[in-house]
Amino acid sequence: MFEKILIANRGEIALRILRAAKELGIATVAVHSTADAHAMHVKLADESVCIGPPPARESYLNIPALLGACEITGAEALHPGYGFLAENARFAEILADHHIVFIGPKPEHIRLMGDKIEAKTTAIRLGIPCVPGSPGAVTGDKEAAAIARTLGFPVIVKAAAGGGGRGMKVARSANDLPVALEMARIEAKAAFGDDSVYLERLLEKPRHIEIQVLGDGHGKAVHLGERDCSLQRRNQKVWEESPSPALNAPQRLEIGEICANAMRELGYASVGTLEFLYENGKFYFIEMNTRIQVEHPVTEMITGVDLVNEQIRIAAGSPLTLTQKEVAFQGHAIECRINAEHSATFRPSPGKIAYYHPPGGLGVRVDSAVYAGYSIPPNYDSLVGKLIVHGRNRNEALMRLRRALDEFIIDGIDTTIPLFQTLVRNADIQNGLYDIHWLERFLALGGMDEASAWVSP
Ligand code: ADP
Repeated sequence: MFEKILIANRGEIALRILRAAKELGIATVAVHSTADAHAMHVKLADESVCIGPPPARESYLNIPALLGACEITGAEALHPGYGFLAENARFAEILADHHIVFIGPKPEHIRLMGDKIEAKTTAIRLGIPCVPGSPGAVTGDKEAAAIARTLGFPVIVKAAAGGGGRGMKVARSANDLPVALEMARIEAKAAFGDDSVYLERLLEKPRHIEIQVLGDGHGKAVHLGERDCSLQRRNQKVWEESPSPALNAPQRLEIGEICANAMRELGYASVGTLEFLYENGKFYFIEMNTRIQVEHPVTEMITGVDLVNEQIRIAAGSPLTLTQKEVAFQGHAIECRINAEHSATFRPSPGKIAYYHPPGGLGVRVDSAVYAGYSIPPNYDSLVGKLIVHGRNRNEALMRLRRALDEFIIDGIDTTIPLFQTLVRNADIQNGLYDIHWLERFLALGGMDEASAWVSP
């Protein structure tokens, strides 16, 4: 096992990794920008190194500074968290060249899944069901039109290098296609420096359901069930839960086994998530994330498996001790991503937290790195923390979520807590009846307008 690891991230995920490392008896090194000098992860780590000024490009994405921090502290391994350098294959290779272990999968697997066309081709080869689409990148508009006709409209044009929902355009008819192609190419070129695009049939009302996997690269892999992340705003997940209200046990087992088998065949060694759209009883693979995800706690709550602990142990070369039989699903978990944003306008609200009181009690977990008196810097994402609840069934989880949200106090900034207070009281949400467009539709129809929004007494 490692003696010391460096955590190349900030916020709640830096704290999450720190906690797993402490339980494993591993010393921790925090890194931070000058904007994060007073951050919680810096206070709790055994050592810390300032790696640059506030812009992420000059600090959390600054590879020479991170290498220097490993060198001066003697860290043997680096955990990238999510975002920043977590899915940068070249970074993983550079670390290897410097004899520092990247706590994540092999660079070739990061690269493979980072290219969505290659990822899809691989998925098809591994027997994973995919959205019908073009066999690879589409070059000419004529070729695209022919493929779109065979797929049937509407289609979606997607960037091969895509991420964060950028470079995606819908074409509802042949007339729309040239513009959609052009716009997607321009957006993809600007965002990723690569204008390759491909086509997929547009699924109209799917749910977003993803499967958590764990592989050790020594021939073992297991799945840990699904997370339903259909509640999204601007392609950003807002609320995640497990199990999905839309799946039954045989369906879970079937798709889970397909994913675990695929990971065994790939020799995949780390945590990973296969994302699917799910419509009319069928799964359609869209992409794989080769890192720990924001929503991983819901899986931890229903399986009792510490995913970050497993990720670190796998990176240290330990074989997976967990067998598929030992993965038992208990109860129901829901996570709400609480952002420093106005709950109706979603205007960012950085600033000083005057008072902070997180909820507690049975089945309540708060993953956050803020505290009273802490100032949220404007330089990074707006996640203040994640509220995760666990209950013996979905109703109990909803009941617990409602009371935990009502207990949660974050004064001094706007947060999205009122959004969740409204959602948890909504009949569609209570009945589990929602798809990936539900939340946008709800907001567009004025679901969070002052008069109708539920306001804490
Ligand atoms: P990104 O990597 O940019 O997040 P994804 O491929 O994961 O792109 O897709 C992001 C979101 O876009 C999905 O969660 C879904 O809401 C929507 N989407 C992607 N592909 C399709 C499709 N074929 N049909 C309908 N919606 C889609």
